[in-house]
Amino acid sequence: MTEFSKSSVWLVGAGPGNPGLLTLHAVEALKTADVIIYDALVNEAVLAWAKPEAERICAGKRGGKPSPKQAEISAMLIDFAKAGKRVLRLKGGDPFVFGRGAEEALALVNAKIPFRIVPGITASIGGLAYAGIPVTSRDVNQSVIFLTGHDQRGLTPDTIDWQAVATGMIVMYMAIRNIDEISAALITGGRPKNDPVVVVKNATLPEMEVLETTLENVAADIASSGIGSPAVICVGRGVLLREQLDWLKND
Ligand code: SAH
Repeated sequence: MTEFSKSSVWLVGAGPGNPGLLTLHAVEALKTADVIIYDALVNEAVLAWAKPEAERICAGKRGGKPSPKQAEISAMLIDFAKAGKRVLRLKGGDPFVFGRGAEEALALVNAKIPFRIVPGITASIGGLAYAGIPVTSRDVNQSVIFLTGHDQRGLTPDTIDWQAVATGMIVMYMAIRNIDEISAALITGGRPKNDPVVVVKNATLPEMEVLETTLENVAADIASSGIGSPAVICVGRGVLLREQLDWLKND
């Protein structure tokens, strides 16, 4: 699968938004694909690499139209591949990080469609780097937890052992809506109230916004600042390195 052949699907990560953070494999796929099915969080600027005749389908919520259900997206990938197309499924960040890439890949396996996974830079790691925050640093943290702020029901996940995440760095996706409950659960689980927190919206893009706060104030500060999705929220002492490592400030 090193060549993008007909009747196959590439599940490709487009990174956090800045086109410079695409991989060479992603650009090659964009140039070669016959059909591109992309998510709402994919920066449409990258479609400029596509062949003019390539079909472009947005599979995310856009312009008030309802988004296709996951099963419909998987069925679309299979149908286009069976019709002999080179199908590019372009997803924000990394396809296997909170991106339903696994579900789509399993559907392809079941349908016996050849596929390739092209990893991308995930929003938390790339986004925090743009905010001057290393996800690990030898003197600061020896572990990182990736956490989703809501489960399939849209609720705060009930499978997380909040005491187990009392140390190290926590990076959260899709956590704006339930941050009230999550921050309270983390404090009850043993995280210090004054643990530094950063919220990074539209990370890596020119319109990026950063909010610095603490665990006990994060919910109120998000509400009063009006900062919304898409954002990653990071908790941990590594956030303090931003004071010295905020390279964008002087860019
Ligand atoms: N597969 C993606 C995550 C998809 S879930 C990845 O690896 O990055 C969607 C969530 O990703 C958003 O709710 C937000 O938490 C995060 N996200 C995606 N793009 C982002 C961006 N540019 N800035 C901040 N957060 C982003």
